[in-house]
Amino acid sequence: MTEKPKISMYWASSCGGCEIALVNINEKIIDLDANFDFMFCPCLLDTKKSDVKELPDEDIFITFFNGGIRTKENEEMAHLLRKKSKILIAFGSCAYEGCIPALANLFSKNELFNTVYTDNFTIDNPLNVLPVPKSAVPEGEIEIPQFCDALKTLSQVVDVDYFIPGCPPESKQIWNVIELVISGASLPAKGSVIGAGASSVCVECDRKKEEKKIKKIYRNYEIIPEKEKCLLEQGLICMGIATRDGCGALCPKVNMPCTGCYGPPEGVLDQGAKMVSALGSIINVDRIKGLDDEKITEKINEVIESIPDPAGLFYKYSLADSILRRKVNI
Ligand code: SF4
Repeated sequence: MTEKPKISMYWASSCGGCEIALVNINEKIIDLDANFDFMFCPCLLDTKKSDVKELPDEDIFITFFNGGIRTKENEEMAHLLRKKSKILIAFGSCAYEGCIPALANLFSKNELFNTVYTDNFTIDNPLNVLPVPKSAVPEGEIEIPQFCDALKTLSQVVDVDYFIPGCPPESKQIWNVIELVISGASLPAKGSVIGAGASSVCVECDRKKEEKKIKKIYRNYEIIPEKEKCLLEQGLICMGIATRDGCGALCPKVNMPCTGCYGPPEGVLDQGAKMVSALGSIINVDRIKGLDDEKITEKINEVIESIPDPAGLFYKYSLADSILRRKVNI
């Protein structure tokens, strides 16, 4: 019997949703198993790091790597799996562009440790004990992975062949990628985003789009939006305009604004900047008659200031891969 090509899936700093998305290909998992030897996946299998180390280089045909690079262990695994895999795919938003864990890049390591371990009313830590990489215990020495200064995307640490966006990627899109590999068809150019479209979520969203001019920004809980009309036109910040299509506009379909998890569309360098620029052109103060420049500026500021947590809203998924990347000089 010919040996099947090996496949692996690894989680670095992530939530586990990517593994669930893979399992959600449902009965197709049998086809996956028929075509690949699933040899390494800490969430599902007991294969050890030492087993991977023993493999010849590029012996794993394809690795889905999810999660950002936040610890030295994440970094070590990224290098190991790069070496052992023929095709390395940044799978999901965390590996591709940092995702929600990368919002921690707005704070220093000390600020994060203080919030999590000391300066927090749910913590009882009178001696201010903080994690350290090595600790002596009666049985010997315990080593835990060192926490890095900032979260990096996978491609900021190793060479990546492809990117599958999404938080998590849509299961049907995952299957499309696997099916393409199984078919033996030629793969897209190295560095491509696969398992998604190239345009924006607005293109696949069925809502009626008219002139986008908004006077007021609402938070999701403040209004029940009309079901047919574009959410952005109703004053809800929908990131569809600055987000790659491929999910099927699932959030707008259920009356929720797109939060941007598929990252920027093809050709857009910075998703947050694209959204800020789009908003800048649709805030409707020019329609308010009889206002002088000072009053207009005041009105603009009022609308802008009503945007809650701009960094968390515009860069919820893409901060680590954006022009900003992280707070500097910290
Ligand atoms: Fe749909 Fe949102 Fe785009 Fe409006 S902004 S068309 S609701 S995806």
